Parts: sequence; C-alpha cells; structure tokens
Amino acid sequence: MFKCDVCCLLLNEEVDVCPRCGAKKEHIKKLEADQEKKVIAADRTNTLLASLVRICDELKVVAEEGKEINLDPGCYGVFTFTLDKLDEIKRYAKAEIEVHINRNKW
Ligand SMILES: [Zn+2]
Repeated sequence: MFKCDVCCLLLNEEVDVCPRCGAKKEHIKKLEADQEKKVIAADRTNTLLASLVRICDELKVVAEEGKEINLDPGCYGVFTFTLDKLDEIKRYAKAEIEVHINRNKW
C-alpha cells in the first residue's frame, strides 16, 4: 500500500503521479507492514463507526413513531430512552471519528 504525503490519498499500487492532487512520485511513499495493518484496522473501524451513526438515524425514525403513537407509559418510556441513547451513541461515534482523523488514523 502507498500513500501520497501531500493529500493523504491511499493507493494500492505505486504511481508516478498522485491521481488526486498531481504530486510527483517522490511524494508517494510505501507504507511499512505495521503501518499498512493500522491503516486497514482504522479503515474498518471508521466504517463501523459511520455505520453506527447511520443505524442510529434509522432507529430514530422508529423510536419517534413509537413515541408519537404513545400506546402506554411503558412503550413511551422505551422509545424515549432509545431516543436519548441514540443521541449519545451518535455523539460518541462522531467524536471518535474526529479523533481518528486528527491522529491520521484514517
Ligand atoms: Zn496526492
């Protein structure tokens, strides 16, 4: 795996010119095996975190409808609890993604 040190684009093969920013070959660096392993783990983890955010958005629609129907206090409580936790989960996941971006774990 290779990485452009100008625009951070990851590449599966060495190239003469970065296809994203046009940087020359000297800016395309081969990643060491341990760096490559971290990149793969970070990529997967960030995808999972983004999935959490997406799933929370879908779950929000479900919980809002349940809250709106308001069949009984028990149901209302479950949907309200869900909405409260969704917001917390989303904020935690987004914060973690931001930490990864700032630490170049992307
Ligand atoms: Zn580039």
